[in-house]
Amino acid sequence: MSERALFIDYARCIGCQACVQACEECDTHRGQPMIHLETIRRRDSVQTAPQVCMHCEDPICAQVCPADAIKKGPDGVVHSALTHRCIGCSNCVLACPFGVPKYFAAIDQMMKCDLCYDRTSIGKKPMCATVCPSQALTFMTPEELERTRRGTAVNEWVFGEERVRTKVSVVVPHEVKEVHVNLVQLGKRREKAEPDDVAALLEEG
Ligand code: SF4
Ligand code: SF4
Repeated sequence: MSERALFIDYARCIGCQACVQACEECDTHRGQPMIHLETIRRRDSVQTAPQVCMHCEDPICAQVCPADAIKKGPDGVVHSALTHRCIGCSNCVLACPFGVPKYFAAIDQMMKCDLCYDRTSIGKKPMCATVCPSQALTFMTPEELERTRRGTAVNEWVFGEERVRTKVSVVVPHEVKEVHVNLVQLGKRREKAEPDDVAALLEEG
């Protein structure tokens, strides 16, 4: 059987914030949640979506880091910045297509989700997937996912000209093979829609 992996099923998120609270308790960044809970279409829906680090196969955050502070392990986990290397320039914050790394001015460092490496490296679930009551965040094998969910798991993203493959997958309808996010349209839409109107962008992409 395959190894367990993290899957995000945005449609199941009920906005309860349990993942945010649990993330805060992680020993490596105690008191600071690394998970973002986004509002999808603020104008006419309360639908929310959790965003963790997607652990990109070729992480742009690491590519743009001038201090070589972000390392990807052989298991595909992209770690948070090495504290002795990070110079707090925020290049990674600006470059990440998923908006994941956060800059903390008080410590002049970037921090981000590291898939609860202290837990997942010894076979435990990440904190968020442990507490999520609707299993919008779930840690299971691809076989278990296929058996228990209606959708299919996708880890291919298209941001304009840029293609990104990620270790973390999202659950989408069967006919979807890759997720298109049109950032150029996001720029053009600001007059007509809220900048974070992700659902509308995905529909138009
Ligand atoms: S999602 Fe962002 S922070 Fe995570 S590996 Fe990809 S580029 Fe880096
Ligand atoms: S903020 Fe730190 S980790 Fe991010 S790019 Fe700059 S030096 Fe690298």
